[in-house]
Amino acid sequence: MPKIRILQEDLINKIAAGEVVERPASVVKELLDNSYDAGATHISIDIQEGGINKIHIVDNGEGMDKEDAEMAFKRHATSKIQQIEDLLNLKNYGFRGEALATISAVSKVTLKTRKKDQNLGTEIKIEGGQITLTTETGAPQGTSILIEDLFYNVPARKEFLKATSTEYKEILDIVDSYAIANPGTGISLVHNDKTIYNLPSDDKLEDRIRSILGSDTFEKLIPLFFEHPHLEIYGYVSKPELASERKKRQYIFVNKRPINNRSIAFNVKDAYGSLIPRNSYPVFLVFLDLPTNVVDVNVHPRKEEVKFSNDQFINTSVRSCVKSALNRTDLTPGAQDKGVPRSPFASPFVKNPFSPPTTPQTTKTSKPFSDPFWNAPYADPFGGMDDTLTPGSGMNSNFLQIHNLYIVAETETGLLIYDQHAVHERIIYEQLISKHQKKNQTGQTQGLLTPIVLNLSAQESTILAEHLETLKEAGFEIEEFGGNSYKITQVPAILSQFDIKGIIHEILDDLEEHQETKKVDSQSNKILTYLACRSAYKAGDLLHQEEIAAMIEKLKLADIEYTCPHGRPVKIELTWKELSRMFKRT
Ligand code: ADP
Ligand code: MG
Repeated sequence: MPKIRILQEDLINKIAAGEVVERPASVVKELLDNSYDAGATHISIDIQEGGINKIHIVDNGEGMDKEDAEMAFKRHATSKIQQIEDLLNLKNYGFRGEALATISAVSKVTLKTRKKDQNLGTEIKIEGGQITLTTETGAPQGTSILIEDLFYNVPARKEFLKATSTEYKEILDIVDSYAIANPGTGISLVHNDKTIYNLPSDDKLEDRIRSILGSDTFEKLIPLFFEHPHLEIYGYVSKPELASERKKRQYIFVNKRPINNRSIAFNVKDAYGSLIPRNSYPVFLVFLDLPTNVVDVNVHPRKEEVKFSNDQFINTSVRSCVKSALNRTDLTPGAQDKGVPRSPFASPFVKNPFSPPTTPQTTKTSKPFSDPFWNAPYADPFGGMDDTLTPGSGMNSNFLQIHNLYIVAETETGLLIYDQHAVHERIIYEQLISKHQKKNQTGQTQGLLTPIVLNLSAQESTILAEHLETLKEAGFEIEEFGGNSYKITQVPAILSQFDIKGIIHEILDDLEEHQETKKVDSQSNKILTYLACRSAYKAGDLLHQEEIAAMIEKLKLADIEYTCPHGRPVKIELTWKELSRMFKRT
């Protein structure tokens, strides 16, 4: 008996699905490929539960007749290429003829489609790769494809799916990138019956990017230009101030195809040189238009990567194009950002580390002591202090900031060294958590004379919406303000002097990176920890002496004064004994 056999068609398709259909977002990607390839001028996407229950995509493209509609679900069935040379002149996203075959092998599919010149359309139902219904139907021109119960017949695959919110964000990433690549096609996205966006079919690239990234981000982008007979580069890179530790919002499009490419990403980042820290990454949208015959699109099962015939030329061009964009731009942070420094003392009054710090008096932002928290300890920073928990009471009233990072204080038993970020972080965290836990506590919030408006991306807005309750309980008053905008009218008093807009953007960044916690408790703790961390003074912030005194005083009232919310030490002590030993005095 021979032991080698050809596998059954539906098993082949299930195996192929393993490569092509990794998760709901890959289904969305393949279906979008098809709708754009069909010349649609409008595409609507409706998903339920992160696409696991339902993905419904409707386009007004060319549609299919009955024969093609049945054929489309066969493996290696495509209208896009006929011979290998066609790959060198490919104008479509698709070419493998695999997507519909593999998707229908692992889900329940309902297709309705009608070609322009036909009166009746076709409806086809397929379950697990088997056609269960083919019938004529009335249908608008174009194609509607409904995918239900993804992986219902491949339980092992279903196990690998993440939380629906994570799957949803993966889909949003895909839809965002296709929407940016095709500004001239209208696109709407609905998740769990909520419209996430609905964009017109005559957007310019600029409008589209603004809608997708949110105008807060768009306003910090710099346009790119580069022209060569065989290569055009355009798009945007961010001002250095938008760089973050996360590689987010980094889009590369090759002939409008969204791709990943590490060397292009590296060259964009490298062009910033010392404008951004080494472990920081800019936001960018780099479009490369070049002749199709110098790009190999057939190098990745999900078509996420391409290969260039001349990598080096592409990389050097990207790099010099980004460099010249940065060089010709005034990179000073925008006026609204300049006005509200993170530390109230990081102001022009104390910018020069060699001049003695002066307490700023005039402007609102430079008057940190108007807030009740900062006011209290000033008259006598150490009066009535309970020292019992601190080793060595009776501190010397002279506080010293060193390295713009540590605070050194003399006590009876030795030297206390504080980490200014950790101290401040602990204090802010405790204020926020106490407000959050005792929900009705009053007196620790501050109304804003001018509300702060956040113009977010759909991605950021989803994350903010998930944490809105926690933020409200911690003292924020935030309302939805149409689309993906929010209005902040009240903030926790302890944060009232800081750049709230910047801080919120930073915590959204943090939260986007760490999506996995599902428990509500740890979710609120997480956002309060991030909030404290992002608001606290950083290493390098020059602090005023009274500010240091108030901070140390406040730390003593904290429930836990030894570690920051992440568990790092807030202070360490070097005793006189230890010092004597080190200097061999004993
Ligand atoms: P590919 O896109 O690689 O050709 P698919 O399996 O995705 O393979 O689709 C098979 C064929 O079905 C396509 O080549 C196209 O002719 C047709 N098709 C799929 N989706 C659509 C659509 N939305 N509108 C019109 N035709 C479609
Ligand atoms: Mg396709």
